[in-house]
Amino acid sequence: MPPDLDARLTDAIRAREGELVALCRDLVQIPTLNPPGQHYRAICAYLAERLGKQGFAVEMIRAEGAPADSTEYPRWNVIARREGARAGECVHFNSHHDVVEVGRGWTVDPFGGEVKDGRLYGRGACDMKGGLAASIIATEAFLEICPDFSGAVEISATADEESGGYGGVAYLAERGWFSPERVQHVIIPEPLNKDRICLGHRGVWWAEIETYGRIAHGSMPFLGDSAVRHMGAVLAEMEATLFPLLATKRTGMPVVPEGAKQSTLNINSIHGGEADHPDDYTGLPAPCVPDSCRIVIDRRFLIEEELAEVKGEVTALLEKVKALRPSFTYEVRDLFEVQPTMAPQDAPIVRTTAAAIEKVLARQPDYVVSPGTYDQKHIDRIGKLSNCIAYGPGILDLAHQPDEWVGVQDMVDSATVMALVLAELLAR
Ligand SMILES: [Zn+2]
Repeated sequence: MPPDLDARLTDAIRAREGELVALCRDLVQIPTLNPPGQHYRAICAYLAERLGKQGFAVEMIRAEGAPADSTEYPRWNVIARREGARAGECVHFNSHHDVVEVGRGWTVDPFGGEVKDGRLYGRGACDMKGGLAASIIATEAFLEICPDFSGAVEISATADEESGGYGGVAYLAERGWFSPERVQHVIIPEPLNKDRICLGHRGVWWAEIETYGRIAHGSMPFLGDSAVRHMGAVLAEMEATLFPLLATKRTGMPVVPEGAKQSTLNINSIHGGEADHPDDYTGLPAPCVPDSCRIVIDRRFLIEEELAEVKGEVTALLEKVKALRPSFTYEVRDLFEVQPTMAPQDAPIVRTTAAAIEKVLARQPDYVVSPGTYDQKHIDRIGKLSNCIAYGPGILDLAHQPDEWVGVQDMVDSATVMALVLAELLAR
């Protein structure tokens, strides 16, 4: 790529700073809260109109029948594709358009899109409407400077990432929208910071473990069998052996933050015995030996681990407890599982983005892996596209927080990186 092309793209992005801010503000002002999944159609229609005017072929796709899709809250997605002058590869920018609940503690209007001291504030500004806006401005600048590019550019805004992506990327990937035949490079502009390339994420296994006992009168517990005491033994065994074991399992994946560079386990919840009463119930609980106790575990695993082995550790632990407690019985129910995913560091999209970051920011990028999952899982597993990264403006820690913001300069810089990536891959 001739150096003057880089300079022209950089200037074109800089000239669009006001437009970038206005676009991000417009997106923040559409309160696409999930749950329940509000205003999905409105945000897709807004993007469809903007991109349609510029010669994109635009499709609005409702994920009919997906989890949470309903007449009241339809799960809308939009995909816009602009073909180049001749055949070539397709670069796709995928952003989720949903945002999480507002929560307490805000000092600005969460849907105002106010700009103060170089920061644009609002729910979703950082995660990830700033990234969506940056990818659109990058693409528009690229189309102006390189109108005779080869291949195609796609921009999608998809539903429900915050609740698993089943009404968004998973639905589209199952219908072939993300497949190596139509798309060759994917950037997900999640807020990973403008100088970091996120290669993937750890795996997830959620499961419910239930221990069983026998109900009896609480004054004569020896006539029953306490499921809560059995669970206590399970938890004690986890403290004694499982947590220490997980701490020894370190990964070669560059996971951030540091504490997530190992296998982790969270016990999300515990419940045993009599069900909780409504807040307005004024009576006492009944005296019973609990015949059931349940915990939900959230195990995050590494690319070096097999899911079967992860599950096997828990089964082995339960069997060990069983051997010591004659009446102990249990069940393990799988709730959710996601395999770890990581793009190879020499994948074309990784190398191209790294080179663009070096040009724009005059520094080497950091390579990271996310502790939690995002839509890359569906693009990789269902779409079979491993040439996929997350790269976008915004500070990850601000996601889902009160007074969430995205830096204007960060949006401009990452949009410049994205435009240079397009030029390198499509305008050689
Ligand atoms: Zn996000």
